[in-house]
Amino acid sequence: MSARTEGTVLVLNSGSSSIKFQLVHPETGESVAHGLVERIGEPEGRVVFHHTTGTEEHVGPIENHRAGLRIVLDWVEGLGRPLREAGIIAVGHRLVHGGEVFHEPTLVDDDVVRTVEELSVLAPLHNPANVIGMEVAREELPDIPHVGVFDTAFFHALPAEAATYAIDRDVARAHGIRRYGFHGTSHQYVSERAARFLGRELSELNQIVLHLGNGASASAIAGGRPVDTSMGLTPLEGLVMGTRCGDIDPGVLLHLNRSAGMDVDTIDGLLNRRSGLKGLSGVNDFRALLRLVAEGSEDAKLAYDVYVHRLRKYLGAYLVELGGVDVVVFTGGVGENNVDVRRDALAGLERLGIVVDDARNVAPERGERRISADTSQVEVLVIPTNEELAIARAAAALV
Ligand code: ADP
Repeated sequence: MSARTEGTVLVLNSGSSSIKFQLVHPETGESVAHGLVERIGEPEGRVVFHHTTGTEEHVGPIENHRAGLRIVLDWVEGLGRPLREAGIIAVGHRLVHGGEVFHEPTLVDDDVVRTVEELSVLAPLHNPANVIGMEVAREELPDIPHVGVFDTAFFHALPAEAATYAIDRDVARAHGIRRYGFHGTSHQYVSERAARFLGRELSELNQIVLHLGNGASASAIAGGRPVDTSMGLTPLEGLVMGTRCGDIDPGVLLHLNRSAGMDVDTIDGLLNRRSGLKGLSGVNDFRALLRLVAEGSEDAKLAYDVYVHRLRKYLGAYLVELGGVDVVVFTGGVGENNVDVRRDALAGLERLGIVVDDARNVAPERGERRISADTSQVEVLVIPTNEELAIARAAAALV
């Protein structure tokens, strides 16, 4: 087993009990290896490692993030030369919340780690795990520059009227309450690819990007700059997601607390992990949802309808905010693969210049593609996202 690792970036996405990793050539986009360490700290952990010549799996307890990363690095060494000589030029860390501090890819030092840790109040589920990932990786790979790429960075430029919640401004200021937006790396990457696909300048396009995965978010982008996005202070706002409710009347929380006696942690669990598609239908995976719909489940059908309704509501809002749109882009696991959502989200919009071509929509292609009809004034595209490549490029550009 050998692979060309010179000039690669190791991209790490550390979750509370998992590490996603990819070794990628930033220029060509070629992925040398990628995989997942999961169930860290549980009795039975698992590492899956895909590389150019096959797939390997390791099952057994993985004590902590360090042990997980060590397994990954040993494998990377197994690809060719010892790690010191393998030619990895940077480690790119996917970091969730950069607050008002981080607006662009940032070289990681002790101060940066400390600040990301302080920002955990805004992202208690994500930032602590990101911090562990950075600490462990910096200790294991001390000679290589580490770069943090923030999910919020692209949206730091949101106009004030889109970023501001209408609450007491002193309270908002004191607690950093504003709309930050997430999935920024994906929205930026996909909007740039869309312009390239069309052979047009990014600066001359109004785009609506729909990133539909387990988490889901929409953005309105004018000439490459975000003007609005559906996620807010946290990734809970906006579209209906696998397990998250998206937009909800804040009065619901007050009612659950006062009348149902639920405390903050219970409500947190309800809205983040037991809502969305899962709350409505029992399943969070979109393929499972569609199977239930096909079997005649009314709950699943309603879940699907609520999902599509919310999506259309955002499309309508962003069409007006942008004053017309040139491109609608679908991305993420659902957006890239699901024929029904793409069709239903844009059904009946001919008067707005949006016409999906049924044959193009259902064609089994997987790459970047157009699914709008030739008569459509608005281009409707499917652009697979590649956050790892975007992070690798950002890291390489910095070092
Ligand atoms: P994440 O947000 O975790 O990165 P993904 O972008 O991978 O998630 O999206 C996961 C979602 O995509 C799941 O709901 C999954 O069911 C859905 N998905 C993946 N492939 C398909 C497919 N072929 N058809 C429909 N849905 C799909």
